[in-house]
Amino acid sequence: MPLLSTRLSLGPLVAVGHRALRLLGLERAPASGENDPQAADAMRRAEAARAAGHADEARTLFRYVVQRWPAHVGALHALRDLAVETRAWDEAIAIQESILALAPSRERHAEAEWLAAGYYELGRLELARGEAAAAAGHFRAALRADRDFVPASVALGDALEAAGDPREAVRAWERAAETSPVLPLLARLERAYREQDRPSRMIALYRAAAERAPDDLALAAALGRVYFELEMLDEAADQFEKIEVRAPDLPTVHAFLGAIFERRGDAREAFDEYRRALRLAHGFDWPHRCTACGATAPRWQDRCDACRRWNTLRPASAR
Ligand SMILES: [Zn+2]
Repeated sequence: MPLLSTRLSLGPLVAVGHRALRLLGLERAPASGENDPQAADAMRRAEAARAAGHADEARTLFRYVVQRWPAHVGALHALRDLAVETRAWDEAIAIQESILALAPSRERHAEAEWLAAGYYELGRLELARGEAAAAAGHFRAALRADRDFVPASVALGDALEAAGDPREAVRAWERAAETSPVLPLLARLERAYREQDRPSRMIALYRAAAERAPDDLALAAALGRVYFELEMLDEAADQFEKIEVRAPDLPTVHAFLGAIFERRGDAREAFDEYRRALRLAHGFDWPHRCTACGATAPRWQDRCDACRRWNTLRPASAR
């Protein structure tokens, strides 16, 4: 049974309907409780209950505020936060729809993001229960709320794949990557193209992404990695050298350059690059462990960060 069937029946949840009626001039705006001392008093008691850790009492009081003043944004936010804390995503979504309907335009994007997050989490629950088709529906709802919500576009493909439709999964990731060329989407597409044995699509994918986001060095490095894996050593060297100009101290870049030089048979250059990579990655350091408290440190220190004792750090050996 879909989780969303347990929707709340609170008054403010029909705020969208209220809004439509208001546009037609058929109904007055719902009360916001602004400047109402009774609303302020109820909110104070609700906040006190919440601060004291009495979540149920706080929820009851916030609900009372919302029933009396359906456009009370502070109470709606508090109810939403309580729902999020208890992972009651269907409830959080229902409340958030009301908040979104009341939000002024400058706050609408942030509130839409919250709505997307609610649908996303609901979708993750469905996916964990093995309900892939229902999960895909929630991820699509998340993207309708906020089309830039990357976790949902990643998960939508995962759900479609789990539902047995890998082609539709690839299409979903491709559509998302056109507007948001981010690594988690590209990594999934790369895996799909690799399985289909289509290396040229892997290259085209990262090239297009790097062109769309020229300042993203992670994408530039991913393109270099794909060149390297496909044994396109000249293109790979070119790519990593371009990155090196802009970011001279990335150990990964020098490790790849070392591997490229080695593959080309240039041992001297390869050695230099490896040494640089090791130095930049603190590869000459050895992890240490505190003999007093067991805390670990990436290298020797005079004093343990965890227990603050002196002269207790020794080289860590096998775990
Ligand atoms: Zn210690």
